[in-house]
Amino acid sequence: EREQLKGLRKLPAVTRDGTAITLQANLELPRDLEHALENGAQGIGLLRTEFLFMNRDQLPDEDEQYEVLRSIIEGMGGRTVTARTMDVGGEKLAGWMAGRYGDPPNPALGLRAVRLGLREPKLLETQLAAMLRAGAHGPLRILLPMICNVSEVQKVREMMGQVARRLRRRGAAIADPLPPVGVMVEIPGAALSADALAYAADFFAIGTNDLTQYTLAIDRSDEQVATLYDPLHPAVLRLIQFTVEAALRSRIPVSVCGEIAGDPRYTALLLGLGVRELSMSPPSIPKVKQRIRSLDVIEAARRARVIMDQSDSGRIAALLDDFNTVA
Ligand code: PEP
Ligand code: MG
Repeated sequence: EREQLKGLRKLPAVTRDGTAITLQANLELPRDLEHALENGAQGIGLLRTEFLFMNRDQLPDEDEQYEVLRSIIEGMGGRTVTARTMDVGGEKLAGWMAGRYGDPPNPALGLRAVRLGLREPKLLETQLAAMLRAGAHGPLRILLPMICNVSEVQKVREMMGQVARRLRRRGAAIADPLPPVGVMVEIPGAALSADALAYAADFFAIGTNDLTQYTLAIDRSDEQVATLYDPLHPAVLRLIQFTVEAALRSRIPVSVCGEIAGDPRYTALLLGLGVRELSMSPPSIPKVKQRIRSLDVIEAARRARVIMDQSDSGRIAALLDDFNTVA
């Protein structure tokens, strides 16, 4: 079976009825790049940059961030890299922001990700500068985590414009034109505002890990409630559907990059909801590709409509299992 999956590397991710699906990789560490390439990733759909900020006493400066990003962009040899700005905050900051903001009462709902970047502009400006410079070496998109309203996107865009002007004055080579700016849709309020956000953003990446956590009020890392953590809950699926439809109407690209994107059990449903771009941990790519090659999008859309009429996630899971074993 492993040989068979390996053989898939060179085959396209195309459904039986000829719809091409883009399969990209999520990267958590630079060394994952090798696995992304081995497994035939068509790009990096989510570069988590947290590794640059974690487990250290000093913040990385612009040059350090630039070098790391550049090597990843160059390593992808012309395929697009989607770099997410730092998604750190709450308890993860204790090391170098000790005492600054105290202990957040609820880190998951606190000062993290873009919120932190707007509160501490130097942090985000430095990262944006590194990204703009790295973007001179190959195709790059910039992705903003934990966005919950349009004004956050506008503020980051303004900041990016200022950073670009400063870099140009300095004579630095930067991405030209400036990279597309996308939004992680991972807060229920963002999903419900997807039509407005689609005007402000150049692309969407749906983060189903956090979207599930916040929609169901289930801490994604709390084992005590792990059995209640359910991406097939109708509320989560409706938010995904609403977001995909808003993106399609506005003609902006939309991908799914949470864990469900890398699980072949969900592939038919996601395609049925109109998703054509998936980003996942590199080893999952062959399995998902295999599933895509066995599917028919018209049939998947028909099944998805039936599933979206259900109110019970157990029933949804059963319908999905049924589809997965038949096709
Ligand atoms: C998500 O929330 O689904 C996601 C892809 O981001 P992370 O897992 O890094 O929070
Ligand atoms: Mg997330």
